[in-house]
Amino acid sequence: MAKHHHAMNDAFYRSAAWQQTRQAYGDAMGWLCERCRARGVIQRGSIVHHKRYLGMDPAVETALAWDNLELLCLDCHNREHMGGEPEVRVQYDASGMPAGVTRR
Ligand SMILES: [Zn+2]
Ligand SMILES: [Zn+2]
Repeated sequence: MAKHHHAMNDAFYRSAAWQQTRQAYGDAMGWLCERCRARGVIQRGSIVHHKRYLGMDPAVETALAWDNLELLCLDCHNREHMGGEPEVRVQYDASGMPAGVTRR
């Protein structure tokens, strides 16, 4: 399995351009998880996920395009990256940066 894209693009995820895009997109979505909302569940989302995978050197138009973004809660995001019930959980801090990995 590919390594998690957030960990591979540290500099990008710390950039002002990303922080601004992330904030604006989250505001537009009301900070509610889009996948939970599609199932009729109101769940706060905190992670702006890229639908198309970003490589080591993400193109700005891919990295910052709203049609490539999806606001997810932790559970939906872990499911997206791990597939099914996660063995390893990646945890994120309030700004969406990976804060650590817990193995169970
Ligand atoms: Zn969700
Ligand atoms: Zn993601």
